[in-house]
Amino acid sequence: MHNIAVIGAGMAGCTLARRLVDGGLSVRVFDKGRAAGGRMATRAVGACRFDHGAQFMSVRGAAMSEQLADWQRAGVVSRWPQAEVGADARWVGVPGMNALAPRMLWGAELQPQTTIAGIGTDRLGWWLANDEGMIPDCFDAVLVTLPAPQAAALFDGCSGADATPFSEAMRDISYASCWALMLSFDHRLDAPDCMRLDRNGVLGWAARDSSKPQHDAASECWVVHASARWSDEHMGLEPEDVEPLLLAAFQMQLGMAVMPVHLRAHRWRYARVLKPLGRDCIWDDGQRLGYASDGCLGERVEDAFDSANALAGHVLRSAA
Ligand SMILES: Cc1cc2nc3c(=O)[nH]c(=O)nc-3n(C[C@H](O)[C@H](O)[C@H](O)COP(=O)(O)OP(=O)(O)OC[C@H]3O[C@@H](n4cnc5c(N)ncnc54)[C@H](O)[C@@H]3O)c2cc1C
Repeated sequence: MHNIAVIGAGMAGCTLARRLVDGGLSVRVFDKGRAAGGRMATRAVGACRFDHGAQFMSVRGAAMSEQLADWQRAGVVSRWPQAEVGADARWVGVPGMNALAPRMLWGAELQPQTTIAGIGTDRLGWWLANDEGMIPDCFDAVLVTLPAPQAAALFDGCSGADATPFSEAMRDISYASCWALMLSFDHRLDAPDCMRLDRNGVLGWAARDSSKPQHDAASECWVVHASARWSDEHMGLEPEDVEPLLLAAFQMQLGMAVMPVHLRAHRWRYARVLKPLGRDCIWDDGQRLGYASDGCLGERVEDAFDSANALAGHVLRSAA
């Protein structure tokens, strides 16, 4: 086993790539996005850099602590003290949350802007297809790291191999959605850098992203997350319909009718895991098909990392 396809370049896909490349395997990573990072996403607008998905990471386990030490040596993470509560450190990618992905993908081949629409096997091994047709390569193993409903679409349509246990497992994982709002202002707001808000209200979180290390502290850039309940109730709306609603809620929270110079909403349909699978990953050694993501273990970046590490262990043992 030598040539591995990884579908999805979020923390799980990037972690798989790192472990498998380090283990001597050849890895191609496919992602529908323009860049790697997945829900660890960063968008630059003028002087602002918005981390509109995961705002920070906490690190609890030994494996992630070791990885953190590598990121620190490479200068791609830093603490964000403003977000800390008690003794628990909060870590951010620098200059943005998506900065970890290129380090993790070093030595793998990333194919961005490629939505994988089908997977299957024939006599040469695994094939992948996008909307335009077959990807011209074949693989010894396929590792899927998408949020469960998106992964289920691939497993359900899998041809030439029996992916039924994967399809069934995907149905056991559920997510909360999240509307995120990116705003910038031409003056500093009189507000704390991080606000954890009432989960039953409209907003769940608001933070001055320009207070993060290596962001432009002279700019005034905010990321606001709607609560899970409000987001689920308003998932069907378009960004332009959501923007005035979340701006009004933010103004109400601040007690000021401040007007932003930039305003953009982003829809995360599968934002935080509500109900994980409860297994660290899924691996079928005979068919060489695997699944890892935060959906296996929990709702945090570290859960995606741990899940991918577990799957990488199976793949490397199988390849030995
Ligand atoms: C708003 C928000 C706030 C969060 N806050 C925190 C936080 O503060 N702390 C924390 O630890 N975690 C937080 N999280 C959760 C954290 O971001 C995730 O747990 C973690 O990033 C998941 O990584 P993953 O690799 O499993 O999935 P993802 O990051 O979702 O990666 C999956 C990748 O698959 C790609 N993809 C999807 N479909 C296809 C397809 N058909 N073909 C090819 N590619 C495809 C996507 O583009 C994506 O890049 C937050 C998430 C959100 C959205």
